[in-house]
This record gives sequence, C-alpha cells and structure tokens, in this order.
Amino acid sequence: MLTNAYVKSVYEQTAARNGTDREFLQAVYEVFDALQPYVEKHPELEANGILERLVEPDRMVSFRVSWVDDKGKVRVNRGYRCQFNSAIGPYKGGLRFHPTVTPSVIKFLGFEQIFKNSLTGLPLGGGKGGSDFDPKGKSDGEIMRFCQAFMTELHRYIGANVDVPAGDIGVGGREIGYLFGQYKYLKNNFTGVLTGKGLAFGGSLARTEATGYGLLYFTDEMLRTMRGETLDGKVVVISGAGNVAIYAAQKAMELGAKVIAMSDSQGYVYDPNGINLPVMKQLKEKERARISEYCNRVPGAVYGDNRSDVWKLPCDIALPCATQNELDGESAKALIANGVTAVAEGANMPCTPEAVELFLEAGVLFAPAKAANAGGVATSGLEMSQNSQRFSWTFEEVDAKLKTIMVNIFHNAYRAAEECGKKGNLVVGANVAGFIKVSEAMLAEGVF
Ligand code: NDP
Repeated sequence: MLTNAYVKSVYEQTAARNGTDREFLQAVYEVFDALQPYVEKHPELEANGILERLVEPDRMVSFRVSWVDDKGKVRVNRGYRCQFNSAIGPYKGGLRFHPTVTPSVIKFLGFEQIFKNSLTGLPLGGGKGGSDFDPKGKSDGEIMRFCQAFMTELHRYIGANVDVPAGDIGVGGREIGYLFGQYKYLKNNFTGVLTGKGLAFGGSLARTEATGYGLLYFTDEMLRTMRGETLDGKVVVISGAGNVAIYAAQKAMELGAKVIAMSDSQGYVYDPNGINLPVMKQLKEKERARISEYCNRVPGAVYGDNRSDVWKLPCDIALPCATQNELDGESAKALIANGVTAVAEGANMPCTPEAVELFLEAGVLFAPAKAANAGGVATSGLEMSQNSQRFSWTFEEVDAKLKTIMVNIFHNAYRAAEECGKKGNLVVGANVAGFIKVSEAMLAEGVF
C-alpha cells in the first residue's frame, strides 16, 4: 500500500495522466510500493522531482507500418518505440510483435527495463518497442517485408550509442536479421544497433540461451542462499514454450531438475517422464507448431486446453515464462496448496499483484522479473561490448560472465532488501537496488 505522501501523490498524478494504461500503472505501483522505505530516507528525491521524472518517458514515438502481404494486399500496423530513461546509458530494450501490443504494454515494459538494466551493472538505459503485428501464420516473405517497413521508420530514432533494440515476444533471430539488414541498407553503416543478431554478423554466443539460463542461475543462487538447497531433484513447471521457456527448461534439466510441463497460448502439456526437450525444440523453434502436437510425438504426455491449468500441477518450482499477468491469485493459491517452494519470473510481470502477495505471505521464495530475467539484456550488453571491440568471446566466456552477473544481481537485491528492513523480500530488494544507481545519475546530471 502506498503510505508515503510524496510517493502517493506522484502515483495519483501518474494515474490521472495515464488513465487507461492498466499495465503501465500496475508496474509503476509495484515499483513505488517497493521504493517507499528508501524514499523516506532520501528527501533529495522529492526536492529534485525524481519520481515525477522517472514515470514520464524521455519520448515515445508511434508510427504507421504499411506493408504488402503475399496476395498483394496492403496491410497497416502500428509501431512504437518508447525511449524511457537514459540516465545511465543508451536506451536498451526489446521489440515485441504481438496483437496485444498497446502503448500501455510498451510503457510498462520500458519502465521495468530501466531498473532491470541498472541491476545488470552495465551502462544501459531503459526502452522498449514493438507493434500489434501478428507474426503467426505469416510467410517468411511477409515477415521480411513487415520488418523492412518497421525499420524504415524506426531507423530515424536508434543508433549504437543512442538506442539499441533487441528481441522479445514474436521477435527472434529471423526478425532481428531482417531488421538489421534494413538498418544497414538505409544507413550504409554496419554497426551494433541491434542485439540478438546472427553469429555471422556480430551476434554473441549464448545470447539465445541467456534469459532462460540466467533465470536458472538466479533461482539456483536464491535456493542455495535462502534455503540451503539446490535444484537437484526438484520438480519444475514452466509456462510458455518460446525462447525464455525453452532455455530455462534446458538449464533446469542440466542442474538436475525434472521439468514436467510447458505451455503455449492455446494449452499445456504434462509429461510425467519429464519434457523431451529435443522434441519441444523441433516443434517450437523449427516447425512453429502448436504445443498439442507434442502429445502425438511423445507417448505418455497429456494435453490440456486451458493454459492456466498448468499451475494446478504439483511442483517444487514454478517458472512463468510466457507473458504478463498470466499467473493470477487463483493459480497462486493452487501452487501454494500443492507445496510450491519457489517462483521465479522468466516473463515480464507474469504474476498479478495478488499472486505476488500470496507467495510472499506464504513464505514462498519469489524472484521478480526485473532481477530474475535480466540475463537476456545483460548478454545483449555483452554483445554490444564485443561489437565495440570487433571481437567475439567463446560460449564459455559469455556464459561465465552471465552467471557472475546473475549471482551478483541476486546478492545485490538480497542485501538491499535487508538494508530496507525487508529481509528476504526480493521485490523490494530488486526495485531499490535498480533504482539507486538511476536516481543517483539523474541527481548528478541535473534537471531535464
Ligand atoms: P517468444 O515469442 O519466444 O515466446 C512466447 C511464449 O509465450 C510462446 O510460447 C507463446 O505462445 C506464449 N504466449 C505469448 N503470448 C501469450 C499470451 N497472451 N498468453 C499465453 N501465452 C502467451 O517470447 P520470449 O520467450 O522471448 O518472451 C517470453 C517472456 O519473456 C515475455 O514476457 C518477454 O518480455 C520476457 N523476456 C524475454 C527476454 C528474451 O531475451 N527473449 C528477455 C527478458 C524477458 P504462442 O506461441 O502460442 O503464442
């Protein structure tokens, strides 16, 4: 609950100004709620209008994206780029292509990105972008023409030292390749303006795996420090079957856990023998098929057509890795009743505020997205470093750096929570630890 007068008044102004932006206001409320103990001890924040400035993006562009489908018909989508905060580095954050993309979704993701990027310890500001374009069912040619049209406008606003987009839902290696090609064509400039690139043209080894692997490095460190346990022998349920979910599953298995279920936007599969990852990768990365197809290929697996029911399966660890607000209070109650001991967010804001509160009250270890899924952007930061040096590190080098970053993020968040008198509350810890560096930079850089 917001009790601090300054925090409350800025939240109310933000709500009045962004009335219909539900996801954005949800993200602001969560951050503000967590920051209160820190804000109370730092009156210079109010004196310098830090919170008021923090919730207003530096700029947000919205643009028309016109492209031609395979039948020759002209289609029009809307594109966005939100450059939220550059206090500690160039804007950095992914592009999402999904029909549910709205200004509110882009702003919530951009706002979260400010703190996440700060937590990585790298000099990266916060931004996000995307389009309401739906890549599902589109041919490669259509995807290419859409990406080219999108970049034809976006290229005006980005640059290697200005704003460096990456992937997110619906934007993987294929899309980044087309976007990069168009940027290079328009600018006649080969530069590290996007991350998540192919290995042949400046991509980093381990970027594909980074968010999922990082999530598990964080979860492992959380279990060791807060419970004296490891992932070995734990039963894990994962939502989603995209980039984050697949590599979370892979690392969980490598660390000795058994992943019994995964999902997509249509439903989920339960495999009592443990998910067969090569089959899942073939279906989702190569064939772009529905997850129900898994049951036709793996004997003993069962399909359920309500994706939320994945949270009714008994497990030790739950990893929501699909999308925002996918795990609500009812699902949290089911997980707690079935004895879940840890929940770590791979997706951005996948747990509703009610679910988070229930987990914290029940003593379930809870790893918030901005800390737990920061491995993707951290490795994007490493890709930028390699591009600047015109050099490539080995998979092992990048993976080792990723692991160190995730372990550090955990301990910084854990320590910050303790210093705020909220020991073990990583929601408070992650928000405060991410905020400190950004607010100090904003104070030092003056009012603008
Ligand atoms: P992908 O597009 O690779 O996969 C998304 C997965 O989530 C798919 O299985 C998709 O199912 C499912 N999904 C998408 N929308 C919905 C929905 N409305 N309801 C239920 N399921 C849905 O995306 P990523 O794996 O890259 O991203 C997943 C999450 O992780 C997002 O919240 C993203 O912001 C976050 N994230 C991603 C990072 C990255 O490096 N990729 C970094 C940090 C965070 P279907 O195929 O049926 O649509």
